Amino acid sequence: MSEMWNPILETMALDDLRAYQLDQFREQVEHAKDDSPFYAEKLSGISPDDITSLADVRELPTTTKDELREAQREGDGLYGDLLAEDAESVVSYHQTSGTTGRPVRQADSLPDWEWWTDSWATVLWAQGVRPDDRVFLPFSYSVFVAFWAAHAAAERIGAEVIPGGGMSSAQRVEKIETLDPTVVAVTPTYAFRLAEVAEQEGIDLAETAIETVVCAGEPGASVPSTKDELEALWGADVYDHAGATEAGAWGFACDGDTLGLHFNEARFLVEVLDGDDEPVGPGETGRLVVTPLNRSAQPYVRSELKDRIRLAEESCDCGRTFRVTDGGVLGREDEFRTINGTLLSPRAVEDVVHGYDPVTNEFRVRIEDHPEKDLDTLELRVEADGEYDYDADRIATELDKELKKRTHLSFDVDVSSPGTLDRNELKSDRFTDARTRRTQYEQ
Ligand SMILES: [Zn+2]
Repeated sequence: MSEMWNPILETMALDDLRAYQLDQFREQVEHAKDDSPFYAEKLSGISPDDITSLADVRELPTTTKDELREAQREGDGLYGDLLAEDAESVVSYHQTSGTTGRPVRQADSLPDWEWWTDSWATVLWAQGVRPDDRVFLPFSYSVFVAFWAAHAAAERIGAEVIPGGGMSSAQRVEKIETLDPTVVAVTPTYAFRLAEVAEQEGIDLAETAIETVVCAGEPGASVPSTKDELEALWGADVYDHAGATEAGAWGFACDGDTLGLHFNEARFLVEVLDGDDEPVGPGETGRLVVTPLNRSAQPYVRSELKDRIRLAEESCDCGRTFRVTDGGVLGREDEFRTINGTLLSPRAVEDVVHGYDPVTNEFRVRIEDHPEKDLDTLELRVEADGEYDYDADRIATELDKELKKRTHLSFDVDVSSPGTLDRNELKSDRFTDARTRRTQYEQ
């Protein structure tokens, strides 16, 4: 069996791939402009036939999430002016998780759902999922698209799927133990939580049938120490993947050793841009602007995802021509914060904490104004791991030293006992910025 879900597209010569993408992009723009009232207005001066190069693509305006929210308020029905098909062609409803503002509703037609299934099958196949696998999805899917798409894609591949909604963590661990799934798809946060619950239940996840952990929703599986820790806890290969509710699964890791994501360039036109909206080169960092190709009910043209990535210097040796990132998503634009003039990356803190054994994997960071001086203060809350005979002072001193090395910032480390910090069942919100004079959106 091939290592690729669609070997023709995944290994297409670069010139042909770009021509194919431009062709699909033109068609997408034409459909959006002709059939969605929102894009009819936004792209009114654009003639799709004039788009013959990636430079022409950059002449088109990008689309922000705020615009999507606004467009759904305008017009009729659930999806307002965004909808580009008759309402009766919509077969599935999903929505964004709504962590920032009103959720964006996602309308998909049957061909759109095929598209979602195919993009997720590309991810799962690249990460080794095959017809003889049994895939467990320990999550209440609800109105969130990712796990529904993972479910459909695993079925498409021919694997057997165990839905894991409506169960406690202990019941999910019990399912892993008794039903012998070989693949599990989870957020990194919940992968840690399940490992903790398994330990309480006297089950060693590394001894179960799980061979592959497909991570979604957070970039943890591309953070070196997080990936190492999860691989040890689960005794399995841990893979990263990245996506967005509105755009789809645009990136995936192709093997268990590489800390990078391929763009799925067969299904997306991916741009990585600098502050002047110019494309960045290999080894450089920029923000993602993504156009999903061939979408019908709710198309997006040049969607601003706010994810920052660094393009790898070299191509991947797996044979795919799709470009690859150096590491996964470095963070969202609004997650980077300037503390006392120094840029803090949340990933650097995660990497240090997850790489330091005498504490558990749960942590919180709080940024505040200094009570007297014109300075910011940083507090890191961690939990001592009972298995290590380290006192709180030693942990605080060692962590502060390591963090200073990595971030050039000083942390006030607060050490408490295991289980003090809340556990999250989906994603972690580990950073709180309580400054009243803070600087946001630094790059
Ligand atoms: Zn690869």
